Amino acid sequence: MDRENYHGIYDVIIVGAGYSGTLVAVHLARADANLRIALIERGKNAGRGVAYGTTDAKHLLNVRADQMGAFPDDVGHFYRWLQHHQSNLDAAGVTDLRPDAFIPRLVFGDYIQDLLREACERSRCLDLIHDEIVDITRENDGAFRLLTRAGKELRAAQIVLAVGNFPPGTHLGSDKATERPWFSNNPYSAGARAELAEPGDILIIGTGLTSLDVLMSLAPIKREGKIHILSRRGLFPQPHGAAVAAYPPFFDFDHLPKTAGDLLRRVRRQVRIAAAEGIDWRPVIDSIRPFNQAIWQNLGYLEQKRFLRRLRSFWDIHRHRCAPQILAVKERLEAENRLICHRGNILDFRPVENQVEVTYRPRGTQEKRTIVVRQVLSCTGPQPDYRKLDDPLVHHLLERDLLAPDPLRMGAYTDQEGRVLNQAGEPIHRLYTLGSPRMGSLYESIAVPELRGQARDVAKHILSCHRACTKPA
Ligand SMILES: Cc1cc2nc3c(=O)[nH]c(=O)nc-3n(C[C@H](O)[C@H](O)[C@H](O)COP(=O)(O)OP(=O)(O)OC[C@H]3O[C@@H](n4cnc5c(N)ncnc54)[C@H](O)[C@@H]3O)c2cc1C
Repeated sequence: MDRENYHGIYDVIIVGAGYSGTLVAVHLARADANLRIALIERGKNAGRGVAYGTTDAKHLLNVRADQMGAFPDDVGHFYRWLQHHQSNLDAAGVTDLRPDAFIPRLVFGDYIQDLLREACERSRCLDLIHDEIVDITRENDGAFRLLTRAGKELRAAQIVLAVGNFPPGTHLGSDKATERPWFSNNPYSAGARAELAEPGDILIIGTGLTSLDVLMSLAPIKREGKIHILSRRGLFPQPHGAAVAAYPPFFDFDHLPKTAGDLLRRVRRQVRIAAAEGIDWRPVIDSIRPFNQAIWQNLGYLEQKRFLRRLRSFWDIHRHRCAPQILAVKERLEAENRLICHRGNILDFRPVENQVEVTYRPRGTQEKRTIVVRQVLSCTGPQPDYRKLDDPLVHHLLERDLLAPDPLRMGAYTDQEGRVLNQAGEPIHRLYTLGSPRMGSLYESIAVPELRGQARDVAKHILSCHRACTKPA
């Protein structure tokens, strides 16, 4: 039920209705139709979040259709849904549905919204509220009081922070982005895209999956002007290969690497063994996935830092691959001399008349080079350091010690169950989170294959706590 006039007391309030928050609500509604649940979303499109809120059908999933099911015990659920929803595929221009296809992300958003609709029908008390939570306090009786941007107050026994990713940093030091009309850090705003498509050279900072989305959108519409793209190492995500048989696991939970160097050596050795047998590196990397979180935790703080410094960018481009047709577009743009790729560190931005001069140091040199462009777009990935965020909820939670930054400054400090920890490392009972806020403790905590398990587990913890608290004495 969509609520406009709301106030009230809930068993659970879920803050954020992207994939993660929506799936927690779906699990809860399926398990207990009487549980009083509020799912609160500040954006227009509950169920979609940033990733599946795109309206551009050229933005594709980077996981194959038959692996994107929303439920951990039924990964084929999305593919079966697609088979019964041809009109959604037609609307996105998909003519050929295959299990190994990379489907437009907006269709995955349709699927999640459909699951949410079903959950609302099934539950007697699931309220979908369009508002933003700006503050949370803890009452003496242990309940939480939440304040919304619209000035409403809500109470809940348990809370899930499903707040997802925050926008990238601005690279602008203390200057406000609003004082720089040539700068944007919102790749998915229609306004920013239209601005980039105008005649004149532009610069995209970052060479990850988001910048590839931007290239896909600009390829057919940007007619005049070059697209410059710059990142420190100039590494783009690798393309997926053909769907092949799974590679047998070569890690075991009793003998996990203790150092980043050992991890690298073992993976390289296995890739060589596989290559000698004519097997591609991709299934070797994929076979590590069930061990990823355990490997990360086994490394410990110092080796995690070393991994982040030395290996992260290589790991990410091999692990988070993209649909091959996307890289083909990037390569075509380069061949047509419409796209120019640079490697280096940005040193300075200097406005010159109606343009901006960007100075950077090419990787491995002491030189300085400049690019003069009309617009700059940052696609450097979400800001993970919660102390640097300009988000009222995060700001208040940190202030009240209802949230602490992870020691690596990668999201929130959390325990194994997804409970939020305070600065002293103590769990805040009945306050959970999932998804990218847990990157510091799990590293692999951003894609659906990880999030679907977390959503189920958080729902389980909430239900068992609810049952324990409401059991008659
Ligand atoms: C561009 C992009 C493409 C991706 N593609 C894939 C893919 O193909 N396959 C895959 O498995 N994963 C993909 N991912 C990973 C993706 O992040 C996850 O699959 C998933 O969408 C994360 O969902 P989430 O709910 O945790 O976060 P989000 O999608 O970020 O949702 C968080 C929601 O919380 C809301 N919110 C935040 N704060 C508040 C507040 N205070 N009050 C109310 N609402 C609030 C936000 O508005 C947002 O809607 C992609 C990610 C991105 C960014």
